[in-house]
Amino acid sequence: MTKIIALTNQKGGVGKTTTAVNLAASLSALDRRVLLVDLDPQGHATMGSGIDKHELDGSILDVLMGDSRAPEVILDCPDTGYALLPSNGDLTAAEVDLLNRDEGRERFLADALNSVASEYDVVLIDCPPSLNMLTVNGLTAAHGVLIPLQCEFYALEGLSALLDTIDQIRDSVNPNLAIHGIVRTMYDSRNSLTRDVSKQLRDYFGDTLLKTTIPRNVRVAEAPSHGLPVTKYARFSRGSQAHRVLAKELIRRLSL
Ligand code: ADP
Ligand code: MG
Repeated sequence: MTKIIALTNQKGGVGKTTTAVNLAASLSALDRRVLLVDLDPQGHATMGSGIDKHELDGSILDVLMGDSRAPEVILDCPDTGYALLPSNGDLTAAEVDLLNRDEGRERFLADALNSVASEYDVVLIDCPPSLNMLTVNGLTAAHGVLIPLQCEFYALEGLSALLDTIDQIRDSVNPNLAIHGIVRTMYDSRNSLTRDVSKQLRDYFGDTLLKTTIPRNVRVAEAPSHGLPVTKYARFSRGSQAHRVLAKELIRRLSL
């Protein structure tokens, strides 16, 4: 069965898009059929997949607004191995429009994915860096969330707001929404604060804290400017290898 996974954390710059793109590429390299949904008006997952966000014929906005069906907008990204539902700045308008609807405004993405999800083994949703109506749409469409997190002092504070939102979504539109895991990004085990935060996460979340950590690695940061996942841009880099290990951990854990 298809697993729909939202990568979410309202904090910007924690590695949501990086994890989404590289996980999509790693899972497809392991023969999973993957759809990456760019739900962020910044369109970083789109650009990072080698697609120019300024030159789109159609985007996720058209799908959310009901002007196009998802298969008409989904692009095959031959360089990455996965399919992409692209996004760009036009999506900012959707947030406002979605907010102004009275009913069913949480469900536009869930409805849009309904007809296509079964063509994929995994659907990854790259959420924007806020707890807005777009993110609510992502959490409503998903079976579970993956939370990328940087081991910093304020990381835990932001996490409680996210957990509250997840609880609200469970109480309303998506009672079975699971937390599939917390993934530590830009990880540096030599840093004592990193180790302290890791320990707190382990104490509080137990097994929900994934074993794989993604190291800070310059190749990971360079890859998007080449429109490639790091697993294609620098296959043998530490960053690339870590994303592959993460994909395997999720495959085992979620039976993907
Ligand atoms: P988010 O989507 O949460 O805003 P991004 O994935 O865009 O975060 O990452 C923020 C910045 O950090 C980007 O410039 C990205 O290239 C960089 N980055 C992310 N993960 C790593 C990593 N493991 N090593 C080095 N740089 C990283
Ligand atoms: Mg992002």
